[in-house]
Amino acid sequence: YSIVIDPGHGGSDVGAVGIGGIRETKVVLDIALQVAEILKKKGLKVILTRGSEIDVDLYPRVSLANRSKVDLFVSIHANASRNKRRNVNGIETFFYSGAKGFKLASYIQDQVIKVSPGSPDRGVRKSRFYVIRWTHMPAALVETGFLTGRMDSSRLAQAAHRYKVSVAISRGILLYLKEEGGR
Ligand code: ZN
Repeated sequence: YSIVIDPGHGGSDVGAVGIGGIRETKVVLDIALQVAEILKKKGLKVILTRGSEIDVDLYPRVSLANRSKVDLFVSIHANASRNKRRNVNGIETFFYSGAKGFKLASYIQDQVIKVSPGSPDRGVRKSRFYVIRWTHMPAALVETGFLTGRMDSSRLAQAAHRYKVSVAISRGILLYLKEEGGR
């Protein structure tokens, strides 16, 4: 199987900025690189939309996945709440359409919840985010926690937790492929 892993933001687009100045772009790149390594070791062909702090627009992320005809597309993000409320924490995973996208999002959500005890399960939600809307394969976008939330940000600041999240996302992807196969 083949997959595009998309660390959100990058370069001059730092994404969410959370407690203590923690930046989404760095958090999600670290997780994405680890997910890529884990999945490669399991025999998947993995393509990253970025492997360093560079600017990448949304369209090239989508066209890379569509041109490469990969089986799956997974975008990795971290959240910020409006007004940076520190009591807002939680995990949520988005899909755009279709039973397969929903299942992919559900498998990932379930696994990330397991490694984030106490962080609210905000569920699997439908969304029109560009990268999951225009990709031609089952696609999901996971929000690994709120960088503006006290609980989530202190965890996501720790390398050990980011590794756990990476294993969880990988496990969700592998479970999906085991149950549903490629496209
Ligand atoms: Zn983001």
